[in-house]
Amino acid sequence: MAAAIAALRTDPAVKVLLLERADRPGKKILVTGNGRCNLSNSEMDIPSCYNGEAMHYKSVLRDFGDDIGFFRSLGLLTRTDEEGRVYPMSGQASSVLDALRFALSAAGAEIVCSAEVTRVESVSGSFSVHTADGRRFTSSEVIISAGSPAGVHGYENQNLFGSLRRMNIRIKEFSPALVQLTVKDLPAQLRGTRVRAVASLGNDREGRVSRTGEVQFGDGYISGICVMDLSRFYDGKTQKKLSLDMCPEMTAGELENFIADAISSRPDSDAAAVLSGIVPKAVGETVLKRCCRDLYKRKAGSLSPEEISQTASMLKSLCFTVTGKGGFKSAQICTGGVEGLERSSLMAPEVPGLYFCGEIVDVDGECGGYNLHWAWTSGRAAGTAAIGRLHQDQ
Ligand SMILES: Cc1cc2nc3c(=O)[nH]c(=O)nc-3n(C[C@H](O)[C@H](O)[C@H](O)COP(=O)(O)OP(=O)(O)OC[C@H]3O[C@@H](n4cnc5c(N)ncnc54)[C@H](O)[C@@H]3O)c2cc1C
Repeated sequence: MAAAIAALRTDPAVKVLLLERADRPGKKILVTGNGRCNLSNSEMDIPSCYNGEAMHYKSVLRDFGDDIGFFRSLGLLTRTDEEGRVYPMSGQASSVLDALRFALSAAGAEIVCSAEVTRVESVSGSFSVHTADGRRFTSSEVIISAGSPAGVHGYENQNLFGSLRRMNIRIKEFSPALVQLTVKDLPAQLRGTRVRAVASLGNDREGRVSRTGEVQFGDGYISGICVMDLSRFYDGKTQKKLSLDMCPEMTAGELENFIADAISSRPDSDAAAVLSGIVPKAVGETVLKRCCRDLYKRKAGSLSPEEISQTASMLKSLCFTVTGKGGFKSAQICTGGVEGLERSSLMAPEVPGLYFCGEIVDVDGECGGYNLHWAWTSGRAAGTAAIGRLHQDQ
């Protein structure tokens, strides 16, 4: 949709046709940001916010990155929260979709829904685009923005991808990302609990990645934005360690002293009650049970210096064994996709006139509006470049 708008803004006389498999375009926008659509982020450090081939397209992210201005020009005001996340002022994702749809129809784009593209072929300098119901469209420039299997029920597209591979387009296999991690040793009592922590995946030997934020414990899985951000670094197959530092502001020694002081002021409290000044009760009990089975039942004053030290260490590193991750349906985005496009136009170097944008490209961002930012930005870059090439050819 962003690509079509950019193409028509570059040349209002050009004929733009948008083929959409669903009954209307842009439906995924409605579920983003819990229905509020976190459409961008004001903090834009590419190496720390994006993965995949994002650095290769840094000029696209730089030159077409003004989402707030883009949406303002479509009649949509935004507001930015204290963490830089940009939302529509209305607080409703439907406002974002409406703004795009109205702009498309005002600019004169033709939208054909229930049109699943199954094949794209390059035929003597132009393209034949075939749909599942036997229709064929011809165009000198084609932009493919078919997304990924993330969050979609029954994303097939084997035929479309097969036709792209026949044109030597390189496509890296999709893998779910921004998804919960399945863990095998999660106590039932933690279910439904949330805690702020630095979550780290891996160990010193194999490499460790860390993210900070709210961790949510579920039924056999751990989620929360920081854990979902870590999921792109996990292959979903091998066992890995996830450790949570629930008191990152203090060293283990400082925490040990703090617990010892708290115990000396109320030695007759339950040990778990002393920890409730640091973490939620269910987390405190889990920590004590992990240190020693009966510790959580004992009075705080009975804890030995070693047990206090062990408790502090456990609060700094509560570990779980990750055995898998959620599938495509529960993922917000995917890693993988089309690789090696031209860095500023997103055109396939092997197939002049064929462009890609959005999640189908091998770029994935962290939670916080970065993936939609890539979708609008790459779409506008591809739409603008396609019309530039069209004019060059004429
Ligand atoms: C639950 C959820 C919440 C999210 N929240 C956020 C958020 O708050 N902020 C953020 O930045 N990102 C968020 N994302 C990610 C974001 O939605 C995607 O990165 C973004 O939608 C990608 O845009 P796209 O246009 O590339 O792909 P899509 O939005 O997936 O659009 C692709 C379109 O192509 C159509 N299509 C596919 N194949 C064909 C075909 N063969 N023929 C014709 N049409 C086809 C599809 O029907 C679809 O309409 C979220 C994702 C999910 C699942």
